[in-house]
Amino acid sequence: MTTTTDDFELDFDLEDGLHEECGVVGVFGHPEAAKYVYLGLYALQHRGQEAAGIVSAHNGKLYQHRDVGLVREVFDDKRLGGPLLDKLPGSAAIGHTRYSTAGHDPKLNVQPLYVETSKGPLAISHNGNLTNAAEIRRDLEREGSIFQATTDTEAFLHLMARSRENAPRHALRDALLHPVEGAFSIALLTRDRLIVARDRHGFRPLSIGKMKTAEGEVAWVFASETCVFDLIGATHEGDVQPGEMITVSDSGAERESFASPASSAACVFEHVYFARPDSTVFGRPVEKSRFQMGRILAEESLPAADCVVPVPDGGTISAMGFAEASGLPYTRALIRNHYVGRTFIEPNNRDIKVRQKLNPIRHLIEGRRVVLIDDSIVRGTTSRAIVQLVREAGAKEVHLRIACPPTIAACYYGVDTPDPAKLMANTHSVEEIRAHSGADSLAYLSMDGLRRAVEDEGGKRHCYSCYTGRYPTRIVGVDQLIADHNQKDRPSRSPQAE
Ligand code: AMP
Repeated sequence: MTTTTDDFELDFDLEDGLHEECGVVGVFGHPEAAKYVYLGLYALQHRGQEAAGIVSAHNGKLYQHRDVGLVREVFDDKRLGGPLLDKLPGSAAIGHTRYSTAGHDPKLNVQPLYVETSKGPLAISHNGNLTNAAEIRRDLEREGSIFQATTDTEAFLHLMARSRENAPRHALRDALLHPVEGAFSIALLTRDRLIVARDRHGFRPLSIGKMKTAEGEVAWVFASETCVFDLIGATHEGDVQPGEMITVSDSGAERESFASPASSAACVFEHVYFARPDSTVFGRPVEKSRFQMGRILAEESLPAADCVVPVPDGGTISAMGFAEASGLPYTRALIRNHYVGRTFIEPNNRDIKVRQKLNPIRHLIEGRRVVLIDDSIVRGTTSRAIVQLVREAGAKEVHLRIACPPTIAACYYGVDTPDPAKLMANTHSVEEIRAHSGADSLAYLSMDGLRRAVEDEGGKRHCYSCYTGRYPTRIVGVDQLIADHNQKDRPSRSPQAE
């Protein structure tokens, strides 16, 4: 799942996307800022494959390059029209990688969004989703704002442009207090400053790093995941705190809280699936959480079996934990083709998609009782195809184990989940899902097990709404949100604020 992402879209059909997942990077104080942002985006490719962009600041001007495509495609010298640093000069830059939803012109929504305002040029990268975007947009449009993109991110810029404050930093503070609600980890670039902020609940990650320039100066780096720091040789210095804004300029960094932190709601799905296992998010190594998910899953529902087979890459680390806890051999019997790339042949045939991506090693499976570990079931089509694949390779029994609880509700905070009506566990019992998957048995990690795996026994630190249907914020105009993204009205599970 995580690292090689060319085939990521095979997991999910764009048409079904409800919200976008994204990666954010910012660098300040490095003469080659755009180069390090580029490398950062490369490390965050798994967070979005639809589009990428960088905006840099040099001598009071902003330079941009943004387009639809993978990071390496968008920043290919030919498409750039020259070397990266010639096109994107300066010692400050921000970047974005986006998994956009279909139905809208993807080009319109490529980030960083960039506008000229009375406060100077502004560019913004945003990870997360505002839950009152429809309301903000309606109010702003009534007052005369003209929106260009269809993404909620534009609201920040309109709110800033309207602010009476002249300094972008104060205008942003105004915008953040408007109040925008929901999830945002943002990086904002002005002529001479880089400003980052995280919403009061801290839904999406945003880490702080530092690196040295060749001259021995300290440069600041901000990134959605710490794997960026590893790649560019930066040190991880902690996280932007919920409700915190950090402004970096030539005179240093200033930290301030723009709002008192609300109930903590770090997205648990970052640990389950989304973040790379070599990242630390919300202060905890993702690998540790996934290993524990597997261990606890084995404690909770160990079938009589001969081997543990991961569905790569999503199930790999949980399967290692499962194998250790159960004593069953960890068996890499499904081999993933990492070079599938984008394939739109037979887009509706998930069996072929799965076979293009995964191939079983017959002699490891034949005649054996297999525990198959995957990270999650969303619509249930992938697991059905994989169970069939393993059966056809000669497995005597297939016991499907999922390293998180049933996904029963949509995410409104930035994880791309389909319309709730399409979430299999929203409309089917575990037994029905088992029957649909064709497995001999099916068990999910319990809620309690998930909380233990991320060391959140009290359940107070993370957002678990996709597993509970209880949301830590109000969600304004959810039907409109779903209709906007799917461009079709479909019935949905109503969100319930906690
Ligand atoms: P399905 O049940 O057919 O919808 O597919 C589930 C698989 O999709 C999981 O095993 C994951 O590897 C992957 N997956 C889960 N959540 C997401 C997501 N938000 N975006 C993309 N892929 C996902």
